[in-house]
Amino acid sequence: MRHFDYKNGELYAENVPLRSIADKVGTPAYIYSTATFERHYSVFADSFSGIDALVAYSVKANSNIAILATLAKMGAGADVVSGGELARALVAGIPAHKIVFSGVGKTSAEMRDALKAGIRLFNVESLPELRLLNQTALSMNKIAPIAFRVNPDVTAGGHDKISTGKKENKFGIAWKHAQSAYAEAARLKGIKIVGVDVHIGSQIDDLAPFEKAIEKVGELIKRLRADGHTIQSFDIGGGLGIPYGDNNKTPPPPAEYGAMVKRLTASLDVEMIFEPGRMIAGNAGILLTKVLYVKEGEDRNFLIIDAAMNDLIRPALYDAYHDIEPVIAAGPNFTQETYDVVGPICESGDTFTKSREMPSLNDGDLVVLHSAGAYGAAQSSQYNTRPLIPEVLVSGDKYAVIRERPSVADILKTESIPDWL
Ligand SMILES: *Cc1c(COP(=O)(O)O)cnc(C)c1O
Repeated sequence: MRHFDYKNGELYAENVPLRSIADKVGTPAYIYSTATFERHYSVFADSFSGIDALVAYSVKANSNIAILATLAKMGAGADVVSGGELARALVAGIPAHKIVFSGVGKTSAEMRDALKAGIRLFNVESLPELRLLNQTALSMNKIAPIAFRVNPDVTAGGHDKISTGKKENKFGIAWKHAQSAYAEAARLKGIKIVGVDVHIGSQIDDLAPFEKAIEKVGELIKRLRADGHTIQSFDIGGGLGIPYGDNNKTPPPPAEYGAMVKRLTASLDVEMIFEPGRMIAGNAGILLTKVLYVKEGEDRNFLIIDAAMNDLIRPALYDAYHDIEPVIAAGPNFTQETYDVVGPICESGDTFTKSREMPSLNDGDLVVLHSAGAYGAAQSSQYNTRPLIPEVLVSGDKYAVIRERPSVADILKTESIPDWL
């Protein structure tokens, strides 16, 4: 069931008309649906009922603390990739023992914060990182629990920029070095081996690469145990794709993914850890925006909207598709138009879509870009000195601004002109 739907010809988020949010908060703005977050989380978690599993939501997909608090209430853990995300997860009430720390470039200060908090484990991605973690832990009289993120050399992911599990990617320990990495970790006094970790990519719309990765890691777990290591957990990362509405891709439903994981890991005797991001957040958010101008070009029409690539970079970065709909549904006698939908930024890449057919629109009309809940606000910037846009969380007939729109004065306050000028 969708929670961004038309009622009496106008688009709502749950029970709140988007028009009223636009009036109050202004545009552009991100609007999230609590009911959708809750539904996605429970559909995902339920697909692993009956097995020992931790769902560690990937904070980078949507890191607003209100979203993290929503998921914390449902029992979610967190996968963080920086000290900043760790702080967010803790503030939002995610217990430290449900937090895993991933990322190729952890600093000693970040390790220290995570050790102090007492997180579940570090997903270590290189030997130099392992050695620094060992020193950092020893200097605090602590022992750091770790899994190595191994690179299974599996091709997966909806775009080159979100494929992470191939040997040419920067992520993880090279497959052929995995056993020797574990052997070194076992010799370090500040390190305790607890598991194995992989994350092969994002927006994966087919179970085959996951199956391949699980089978390879299953073999590795057997070899590691034969070497005398204790392997309690198997973190299979995130990456399950979602429908974006462009019809040529239909990712498997979470229930099928869950059944596959259960089947392939049944004999491994491990706790499973999952790091879903997009699957939880992607379709729980939209970008609400206004048509500034309809501009006639030589051979096409441009819809210039008040959102831009700094607010939602996915189309520019990944050639991503987003469904676009008007907030006020077209009447019965509407005409169909073809538009390039673009933002105000001074870059040709600031294009959300080309030659998209939709009901004809006018200056001032509100439109939404769907499936913008993941890697939307989290990847936004203030390029062109456009203030970060507000985030709004809807729950039933209530809503709250969960990130304010800063003023230009707020932005300028962080800069200064040196006294020699
Ligand atoms: C980005 C990321 C995820 C989440 O990926 P999704 O495709 O959003 O599910 C999980 N784990 C790691 C290590 C990541 O970098």
